[in-house]
Amino acid sequence: MDASYSITDIASQISKCKLCELHKDRTLTVPGDGDPNSKIMIIGEAPGQNEDQKGIPFVGRAGHILDSLLESINIDRTKIFITNMVKCRPPKNRDPNVKEIIQCTDFLDHQISIINPLVIITLGRLSLKKFLPNTSIKIARGSIYKWKQYNIFPIYHPAAALYNPKLLPKMKSDFKKISSLIEGMETDFKSTQMK
Ligand code: SF4
Repeated sequence: MDASYSITDIASQISKCKLCELHKDRTLTVPGDGDPNSKIMIIGEAPGQNEDQKGIPFVGRAGHILDSLLESINIDRTKIFITNMVKCRPPKNRDPNVKEIIQCTDFLDHQISIINPLVIITLGRLSLKKFLPNTSIKIARGSIYKWKQYNIFPIYHPAAALYNPKLLPKMKSDFKKISSLIEGMETDFKSTQMK
């Protein structure tokens, strides 16, 4: 199956979705953006106001921080796939609740299985919770974990650095780790394919 078609197909289903209450206040759905053939997937929490207007994840102030963190390790944003736990903006930028996250989870699970990334970077505590429900972002950040066949790398949500700039150096050092981890994983991946 062609990966880009399937991701497009999911985006089309999301655009019509009324499964949870969040559909009522949305301007646009925000299914995800980037390269569906990427080895890296980034999962945030929920779209904000700018994302809701443009239908693209991480285009506001937190998105600018994410872009600069990616640039700091020479990763082009268009070469990875970025999405959120829920695909519609919660009113007044509140956190999505458990019910909304569960109702939207099929879309995310499909996206993960189509993209089949080497590493999933979770941004913030809500996306961490999906993969590692019994830990906190403070403890889990900056290390690699296994979830099914996927490598999970949790880091703080970029929006956290807007409120607490002291987190930015920690985020920069976590992103440096991502860069070397991915290099190692790609080497292992290629050598497995050659066997
Ligand atoms: S947040 Fe997800 S489940 Fe809720 S309406 Fe939007 S696409 Fe559907």
